[in-house]
Amino acid sequence: MGYALSQQLSISLLPLYLRGCPTNIMSLKPSPTFIAAYLFVIGLQFGIMHIQQTKGPKYLIPKRFRAQQYNYLQTFIDTTDLESGTLTANAPETGEECVICMYTLRNQVNNEMQPMPNMISNTYMRTPCRHKFHQNCLQNWMRVKLECPVCREVLPPFETDE
Ligand SMILES: [Zn+2]
Ligand SMILES: [Zn+2]
Repeated sequence: MGYALSQQLSISLLPLYLRGCPTNIMSLKPSPTFIAAYLFVIGLQFGIMHIQQTKGPKYLIPKRFRAQQYNYLQTFIDTTDLESGTLTANAPETGEECVICMYTLRNQVNNEMQPMPNMISNTYMRTPCRHKFHQNCLQNWMRVKLECPVCREVLPPFETDE
């Protein structure tokens, strides 16, 4: 902020001097309207800069204009109970576990080994490094750090559709 401020000020002061000081090298008339408008613009710039620093650089950009977010969510149809059924392509392997809670990733409705109701779902999250987790487990983890719990790869932020 300190550097940006001094840089901004040195850029801002020249026109103020040219239009505000009665005797200046350009012999321009002092213009209070110009100075008021100019100060307003500078204030606006600092306001935006402040918002970007406190809320993050993308805060003012509407969601649809932002860069495409990484899509963590994977849904699959678990057809293990159906005799003829085959698993959809992105279904986790049988016995594949979420390393955060150590429970299986596969949907197991009516299985008492699956203690949390939010895990009875055909949705899981897959990181760019192709590690798989329960949605709730990884989202809770990512509130603490944006790093893969398995391989420590940096994770892009997860944004839900608000
Ligand atoms: Zn889990
Ligand atoms: Zn990983």
